[in-house]
Amino acid sequence: MSNRTFTMIKPDATKKNNTGAILQMINAAGFRIVAMKTTKLSAEKAGEFYAVHAARPFYAELVNFMSSGPITAAILEKENAVEDFRKLIGATNPAEAAEGTIRKLYASSIGENAIHGSDSNENAVIEGDFFFSKLEQF
Ligand code: ATP
Ligand code: MG
Repeated sequence: MSNRTFTMIKPDATKKNNTGAILQMINAAGFRIVAMKTTKLSAEKAGEFYAVHAARPFYAELVNFMSSGPITAAILEKENAVEDFRKLIGATNPAEAAEGTIRKLYASSIGENAIHGSDSNENAVIEGDFFFSKLEQF
């Protein structure tokens, strides 16, 4: 399980038609796509996904943004997946993201930052199970 992470290409990147370019970077970095779907979160589902941030001042804005348009959710596999994927996406705030990272290239602000990546092996499993049944994870 420690070789898997979960990602979402967020509504801002979907709207700008950056989905293909971002998936290309993910594959080029050596991640195998285990499961993938494009869907749209309701405000309720977005709130549930980011429930850990419910007490933060940006929570309402985050829920509103994450339910504003389609997203692409995927489970990814690679050795050291969680840590390596966080490196590939870059810092939460694109102004602080390293050159060549997905957020440096495609995020427009700390809120609308193009892509999500799990922060632990445990959360990768929880988040993958949020979108995909066990039958869909092979
Ligand atoms: P993600 O969990 O989406 O991969 P992250 O782990 O880099 O992002 P978190 O601290 O988990 O960052 O915050 C979750 C998301 O909440 C961020 O990606 C961003 O969309 C939003 N967010 C975080 N901080 C702020 C903020 N100060 N203002 C507005 N939105 C924020
Ligand atoms: Mg996070």
